[in-house]
Amino acid sequence: MTAPKVPEVVLSSSSGQRKMPVIGLGTAPGSISKGTTKDAVLEAIKQGYRHFDAAAAYGVEQSVGEAISEALKLGLISSRDELFVTSKLWVTDNHPELIVPALKKSLRTLQLEYLDLILIHWPITTKPGEVKYPIEVSEIVEFDMKGVWTSLEECQKLGLTKAIGASNFSIKKLEKLLSFATIPPAVNQVEVNLGWQQQKLRAFCKEKGIIVTAFSPLRKGASKGANLVMDNDILKELADAHGKTIAQICLRWLYEQGLTFVVKSYDKERMNQNLQIFDWSLTEDDYKKISEIHQERLIKGLTKPLLDDLWDEE
Ligand code: NAP
Repeated sequence: MTAPKVPEVVLSSSSGQRKMPVIGLGTAPGSISKGTTKDAVLEAIKQGYRHFDAAAAYGVEQSVGEAISEALKLGLISSRDELFVTSKLWVTDNHPELIVPALKKSLRTLQLEYLDLILIHWPITTKPGEVKYPIEVSEIVEFDMKGVWTSLEECQKLGLTKAIGASNFSIKKLEKLLSFATIPPAVNQVEVNLGWQQQKLRAFCKEKGIIVTAFSPLRKGASKGANLVMDNDILKELADAHGKTIAQICLRWLYEQGLTFVVKSYDKERMNQNLQIFDWSLTEDDYKKISEIHQERLIKGLTKPLLDDLWDEE
């Protein structure tokens, strides 16, 4: 199959009005993956992916960087500027004075001069240093959102990143952020999938010009056992009717909602399948059926026990 032209969205508060391809390749560890991150990123570049979603906490920045160097050597891309690379600051670095050094460390590991987007991975701060996952609540200290954001704005001004954004922020937390931001967040990366459709948060972000990037768009695919979307009979019916897979129905729906999304597959065939969603559409009847899917958040938090106010009851 030929590489499709992947649509892009403009990040309005970015330097130089950076464009983000709507589909990105996820790189979070955790699901059973066949290959290495380096091979997967290289294969994805061959297939036409130009957007990669990494994080300091994933331990993949070095592999992503090696794949990009290799792609340049092989002539698969002529410049790093053709790619959109995201990384995320871990909770241990959510201290105003640690932001710039943490971003510089990510850049060294990735062997890049700049990121396209850096996100606050979670609106939580722990003591600096190592933390075990899930995080013990006793490790948590106050999250100085204003101080952290001001340091991120500094990162963008220094040219270390083209855009800055949030992840796992509720409407309430975004409202607080917008109340003092001089550079508004370009993106909020949150869980969105057919089993957690997030209408309210998405409407808020749209009104404020914040691009939503959906993570776990397949609810971790088949890797988490029984899956509310991948094993869903309604979606199986829709997929059969369109001659597509359930994964393609999920990703097409996200695209039609005007979202960007990061989907992880390290399998060559599925990676390609996930790109083949731009030349067909869902019907009104499909939407009716989709609205019947049971709604439940998959990723409830990262602490032990879970925090009561993480999602602000949204
Ligand atoms: P996901 O993308 O919803 O699902 C990944 C799983 O689905 C993998 O096991 C993959 O297996 C399988 N899969 C992919 N395409 C498929 C297809 N066409 N058919 C059947 N199975 C398919 O889950 P995720 O990794 O949790 O989320 C994606 C990315 O979002 C992450 O990698 C990460 O970059 C980001 N993320 C961010 C946060 C955050 O806090 N900001 C949280 C979670 C995730 P194969 O590899 O075998 O295809």
